[in-house]
This record gives sequence, structure tokens and C-alpha cells, in this order.
Amino acid sequence: MTVGFSTRALVLRARPLGESDVLAWLLTKEYGTIRAVAKGGRTSRKRFRGALEPFALLDASLENGRGELLRLSETTLLDPHLGLAMDLARLEAATRLLRLLLRGASEESCGNALFEAASSAVSRLAEPGQTAVRAVELWARLAVLRAFGLEVSLERCVGCGANVPTQRKVFFHPVRGGVVCTPCGGGPLLLRAEAASLFVESSHRCVDIAAAQDLDTDHRALDDFEQWHVVRRGKDGQTGA
Ligand SMILES: [Zn+2]
Repeated sequence: MTVGFSTRALVLRARPLGESDVLAWLLTKEYGTIRAVAKGGRTSRKRFRGALEPFALLDASLENGRGELLRLSETTLLDPHLGLAMDLARLEAATRLLRLLLRGASEESCGNALFEAASSAVSRLAEPGQTAVRAVELWARLAVLRAFGLEVSLERCVGCGANVPTQRKVFFHPVRGGVVCTPCGGGPLLLRAEAASLFVESSHRCVDIAAAQDLDTDHRALDDFEQWHVVRRGKDGQTGA
């Protein structure tokens, strides 16, 4: 029996399947990430016009087929986010974000939060504007990790839970998941005061401007955090892609 349903979705990845079909990875608003086959997706330009490309935001109609894979029966393209193609830095940042989503999102990570974080980040990156791309990316990474259930502890020591004073340099421990005060042993990365406050601010909102040095520091800290909490977790048997 065929059961149909509709959902808003962001295309994370798409690849040809056979002569005429397309296999698409979608982050959906209600169902976490799903994989679906668009029958005739390579040939029927009319039905799927522009909708089977990474970064596309769409309304998707899906059906449960006979096999395990869902079938994408119809799409309405809402926003292809073409602005990303105009600027290499924006495209690269958005691509890294999709990679994180493919690695960390699962069918269980449903709920609106992840979809909202990811789709608003992609739209923001696609908008030409004054905002520093790496600053948008920092805010987006923190929001996506939080939606995965991986809150990076930036205001409280992961050891004792004490508030970490702002405007001061602080140790960061990627494996323990955030900042660590000196009595609790510190950590392998020392964030200078400006990098620490940028980190905290970016966990609440997207900042407009930040020093490249501090953005680099915070992104490096998150690279290590993700390596431990997303990539390894994926390798330990979750649904990493
Ligand atoms: Zn502590």
C-alpha cells in the first residue's frame, strides 16, 4: 500500500541513480534526514525543475514505496539559494555545513530545531550582505550542534559547572565538550579573551563583525569538538553518511 505525506525539506545531497533517477538526501522539517528516490529525476526536468540540487529548499511530496527507500513524487522549489554560487567563500561555508548535517543528523534527530537552524543558516549564507561569512558559519555550527543535542559548553566549566568569567582567556577541551577552568585541569586549547567572548556571543546570535584570528580559533576548537562528538560517534555505529 502506498502512503503519501508532504514535508518541507532542504536538499543535502543528490546523486544520479541508474539511467534516469536521482537519489536525494533530505533534511526534513518533521522527519529528520531521509533518503528518497526521484523516479525520472534526471530526465523529467519539468517535475523536479531545480529542486534536486544541494541547498535547495522545497516542499516535497513523498510516498512509501515497496522497498526501504522513500519515493519523491513531487517537489515545489521554494528557494534554490543561488546566491551561494556567486561567492566561493559562501559556497564553501554552506558545503561544510551540509557535510556536518550529513554526518550528524539522523532520523531520530527530528523536530523543528535542526531544520530551522540549517535552513536559516543556508539562507543567510546565500544572502549577499555585510555579514562576515565565517561569523555566520560559527553561529550556524553552534546552532546545528545544539539541535543534534550536542551543546558546546561555553559559559560554564564542563568540570565543576562554575560560570566562566567573561572577558578573560579560557581553556577549551574538545573531548570534554567545552571550556574548563584551571582548577578542573584546563584544556589543550587556550582561547584568548576576544575569541572566548565571540564564541559565547555566537552561541546566542549571529555576530556582524569579528576578527579573523578569533574566528579561526573558534572554528578550530569546533573542528576538534566535532571530530570527537560527531565523526567518532558516527563511526561507532550511528547513521553517519
Ligand atoms: Zn571547573
